[in-house]
Amino acid sequence: FQGAEPPWLAGLNPEQRAAVTTTDGPVLVLSGAGTGKTRVLTARLAQILATRPVRPWQVLAVTFTNRAAREMRERAGAMIGPMAEQVWLGTFHALGVRMLRRHGDLVGLRSGFTILDADDQLRLLKQILEAEGIDTKKWTPQAGMGLIQRWKDKGLLPEAVPAGDGGREYAGGRAVDLYKQYQQRLAVVNAADFGDLLLHCLTIFTKHPDVLADYSKMFHYILVDEYQDTNVAQYLWLRLLARGHGNICCVGDDDQSIYSWRGAEVGNILRFEADFPGATVVRLERNYRSTPTILAAASGLIRHNKGRLGKDLRAGEGDEAGDAVIVRGLWDGEEEARRVVDDIETRQRAGDRLNGMAVLVRAGFQTRAFEERLILAGVPYRVVGGARFYERQEIRDAIAYLRLVAQPDDSLAFERIINLPRRGLGDASLQTLMRASRMASISLMRAAREAIETDELRPQARKALRAFLDDMGRWRSLADAMAPDELCGTVLDESGYLEMWRKDKSPDAQGRVENLKELVSALKEFESLGAFLEHVSLVMDNEARATEDAVTLMTLHAAKGLEFDTVFLPGWEEEIFPHRRALDENGAEALEEERRLAYVGLTRARKRAIISFVANRRVYNEWRACLPSRFIDELPPEVVERDSASGVYGSGAQGYADAPGGWGRLGGPGSWGGGWGNAAPARVPAAGDTPWQTRDRSGDDQPSLRPGDRVFHDKFGGGTVLAADQGRLEIDFDKAGIKKVMGGFVRKAEG
Ligand code: ATP
Ligand code: MG
Repeated sequence: FQGAEPPWLAGLNPEQRAAVTTTDGPVLVLSGAGTGKTRVLTARLAQILATRPVRPWQVLAVTFTNRAAREMRERAGAMIGPMAEQVWLGTFHALGVRMLRRHGDLVGLRSGFTILDADDQLRLLKQILEAEGIDTKKWTPQAGMGLIQRWKDKGLLPEAVPAGDGGREYAGGRAVDLYKQYQQRLAVVNAADFGDLLLHCLTIFTKHPDVLADYSKMFHYILVDEYQDTNVAQYLWLRLLARGHGNICCVGDDDQSIYSWRGAEVGNILRFEADFPGATVVRLERNYRSTPTILAAASGLIRHNKGRLGKDLRAGEGDEAGDAVIVRGLWDGEEEARRVVDDIETRQRAGDRLNGMAVLVRAGFQTRAFEERLILAGVPYRVVGGARFYERQEIRDAIAYLRLVAQPDDSLAFERIINLPRRGLGDASLQTLMRASRMASISLMRAAREAIETDELRPQARKALRAFLDDMGRWRSLADAMAPDELCGTVLDESGYLEMWRKDKSPDAQGRVENLKELVSALKEFESLGAFLEHVSLVMDNEARATEDAVTLMTLHAAKGLEFDTVFLPGWEEEIFPHRRALDENGAEALEEERRLAYVGLTRARKRAIISFVANRRVYNEWRACLPSRFIDELPPEVVERDSASGVYGSGAQGYADAPGGWGRLGGPGSWGGGWGNAAPARVPAAGDTPWQTRDRSGDDQPSLRPGDRVFHDKFGGGTVLAADQGRLEIDFDKAGIKKVMGGFVRKAEG
């Protein structure tokens, strides 16, 4: 580019240009929505690769979503070519996984470890709570999981949880011990949860300074988008990596901090200047995205927040004011969905692209009404961030099969599919395996391999289990030779799982069979089963085919960083938005976060924003009268046009004024109800189970038994040991005769 200006600098304003060309030393870009922060970061990546003496893999770039990572890679690729492929670019999670795939052994993870989703995490914790005899109605696994996640977000291992932490009180003060057990159990099943992806990295960095040194030497430059939403663990991770050279550039906007519920701390922005003294701080003021009208609406709204670093957005000089922000009151949710979809169709007929339109909601459940209406109207749409497809029961079952093939120690997958389709391995057999697994601290698969050599299971169950293990062994040996889609087809066929749904007479079975077929096609795009499984666990935001022109439905949280010509913002009602939780809880702060979320929503719009609220909403078969959101009143009246067509304004419409009461469940986590989910075998130990329960925790203090010893077995009663071999025993039972049993299931008889 001698002489001529490189393409990534073209059109940048002086402040943006400074942020791009100041490649060395710490840089903080703190600016409002749409001021070009992400664009600057992308240009900076190109600038570094083109002008600094580094190789692409010596640059680390962090984005908030996988989608944002993809976009940045594509844009940088367009500017500087295929070099962009090799940059370490991704979300914190994806980058953490990448490091753990190399160094996981340092924290006890074996190759091919599984990344658990939220469902699996809960299941695992629930098992621990039940085994500990904790009342899971009072101390829900969800609450426990929330605590563990919060600690992980703060970078705290069980040992490090501070004495005064209120969370310790959970389960009668046993929270930290449960956290510890949860981590041990993850290690046994060779799995990590999302929080671990960074926490394990932090552990490795602290315990193995040589590994940290290698990485911080390798990454000459670090770039971070959406910095306002980093949590403490992420912050520590960045700081450890960047401290040596200090070549770190973070961009963010305190007004868009919307993830404090996931441990994000705006304080990280303030800490930046302290940790990286002499940082260049760049402020961008000109907004390139939205019309002056939309900016005025957004700025007017966010001014109601007190806790701000304070900055205002400026529109471009000479920009047309643009359309007023429309606020529309409607009768009920159905009418609201109808109006939105009518508008979408009208715009489409007028030549607007569907890709330029989005419906942004406060909570995931709100998309349903719009989805139904869009389906009815035949308008293509995608739900971003909701992972519709991969969350379906049959898909999750199929993936559990694949996980087990890839990683036989994945006990959660084993548990999910061991009796799907029915193989005559009922609850009792599964319980036996689970006990064996807990007692010996081995995975269910290994417990199963042991069990088929003994008489612990009924002959029929043993036969079924042996057949299942044989199948698994065969699929596993095929896994290397076969393409992942073929392998998946084979597994679904030979396991009888596909056939199970084919024979099912229920109305949705056909759809499930189609979904399973779609899964097999989806696998075509992957080189290996491992790559696919990683994709499933990480990528939850690329639902629709990127090429298809479609309306986007998503939550406000998922919309961060994106932009659309037309943005619909439905459901602006008190208790929906602001969310009821924010009104109940720690008042002012939570409310300010809701307002930031509204600000994020409005600033996604390039040309127009249409806000709506309804007078009546149906919530779980009950009608509720609704009040317009306070945020509506906070919009500067001069930029708002009230659409009174529906006559809800001033009509005092009270609808069906039910007393509030059922809101608590709004948007609460649903249970998938799949596999073992609901019909889970009782895992609370029976009365006679105390011995294994107490022995279980240490795992290795089982009594060593010798031939001639008298023993007692829960099922077969008293007997005499004939032979002992690697945890398995041959015993002459007084009543049942000679049997092979698993060592953990017998107690030495007293006296
Ligand atoms: P957010 O806070 O919402 O993430 P942002 O600060 O990251 O916003 P970008 O998404 O980078 O902003 O930019 C917003 C829009 O403005 C994009 O369409 C971008 O291409 C455009 N833009 C940014 N800088 C310029 C510029 N100098 N000239 C023209 N357009 C620009
Ligand atoms: Mg951005």
